[in-house]
Amino acid sequence: VRVATVRSMRMTVIGCGYLGAVHAACMAELGHEVIGIDVDPEKIAALQAARAPFYEPGLPELLERTMATGRLRFTTDIAEAAGSAVHFVCVGTPQKKGEFAADMKYVDAAVDALIPHLGAGELVVGKSTVPVGTAARLASRIADRAPDTEGLAWNPEFLREGHAVEDTLTPDRLVYGVDGGADTAEGKRAKALLDEVYATPLKRGTPLIVTDYQTAELVKVAANSFLATKISFINAMAELCEKVNADITQLADAIGHDDRIGRKFLNAGLGFGGGCLPKDIRAFMARAGELGADQTLTFLREVDSINMRRRIRMVDLAREVCDGSLIGRRVAVLGAAFKPLSDDIRDSPALNVAAQIRLQGGDVVLTDPAALDNARKAVPDISYAETVEDAVRGADVVLLLTEWKEYRDLEPATISGLVKNKRILDGRNALDPARWRAAGWTYRALGRPRA
Ligand code: NAD
Repeated sequence: VRVATVRSMRMTVIGCGYLGAVHAACMAELGHEVIGIDVDPEKIAALQAARAPFYEPGLPELLERTMATGRLRFTTDIAEAAGSAVHFVCVGTPQKKGEFAADMKYVDAAVDALIPHLGAGELVVGKSTVPVGTAARLASRIADRAPDTEGLAWNPEFLREGHAVEDTLTPDRLVYGVDGGADTAEGKRAKALLDEVYATPLKRGTPLIVTDYQTAELVKVAANSFLATKISFINAMAELCEKVNADITQLADAIGHDDRIGRKFLNAGLGFGGGCLPKDIRAFMARAGELGADQTLTFLREVDSINMRRRIRMVDLAREVCDGSLIGRRVAVLGAAFKPLSDDIRDSPALNVAAQIRLQGGDVVLTDPAALDNARKAVPDISYAETVEDAVRGADVVLLLTEWKEYRDLEPATISGLVKNKRILDGRNALDPARWRAAGWTYRALGRPRA
């Protein structure tokens, strides 16, 4: 008996970074024939050898498995996009230097390079996070220069680094932004193609929301703005807890039991960073300004400043426990990645704090299970150690700044004999204060009582 399977489509994934490489491998896992394209020859060489160019749990195994089937391959040649039914655009949209706005040059270049290779009935699908209005602008460019195609859809991506494979294979929702919305003929044709792409998750009952372009674009930045706001809300409460010696973790537990609030994303600490939240809320503010809605998102400026203040507070706390000066102090830093299970150091709070301590004369030794190479390139003037033991040897103070499981599970006994002074600052509220204090350590954390 032949079991009905998902119809395989040929598709292109343009831009093979944190989003695109995972998307390409997951699409192949879903049974499609996929060509991943990037302008970075080193990244493509790694991927061609089935090596993940960055740390992402599950990706190495997935690459190996799907490339062995022959359904997934990688190239730097955009001409190989020709003949795919769907072309995903997954290139970066970083913050412009000196401005809040997103830099659209990579998206524009990718679409321009793709247009000459587009054939009749093929659909371009944007996944990058973009300012509202981008899809309409690109759709008219495609309509002008490649009128036989199916045009454009916008399909924002919600994956979390560190969980990117599961989030792509089993997303918690799918959003399609289609030309004119779900009821137009164009919209229906685009939806039909995307339904084929996502047949497996859709069959499993994944919620699907089909919108017009502008709503889909806004969904993504609204989601990230909400998450950033939730984090900065609890961090503002942590600032107040510090004033009165109250405990932010108990406060978060207590308000989190109200399911209108929810406990998730209420972990006070060093705040958010990475290649998404900071630049996305800034680009959103910039776009609101362009749309004449300058006042609407001013609260995001506050969200951003609360977030950045936590980094300064962490440095101040380190100086405080080192008796008022960091000059010549050995400071061990645990963590460089912007969050655990990632090697991404873009706008990393941990690395930012380490660099600030260095600027104040501290002698920083940093360790991280995955992000050391990236950190070394970004901040060359601090020292790096492969292990926690090497990082903390002779330390005046130890800072936990990225809550990797191995750091959460750290026992005071493991490092008590190595440090010069038993002082630990918990930048992520990841440790049990009682345990560390019982072992003779000075334990301080953001938003928690002094002792
Ligand atoms: P990234 O920097 O890791 O990857 C971007 C890739 O695009 C790079 O490999 C770059 O070489 C490539 N590229 C640039 N110009 C190109 C071109 N003209 N043709 C082909 N390739 C080109 O960035 P990322 O984290 O993967 O983010 C990509 C987009 O996805 C951004 O808009 C981001 O906001 C969004 N996003 C990212 C995440 C995430 O967790 N990283 C989650 C959701 C959405």
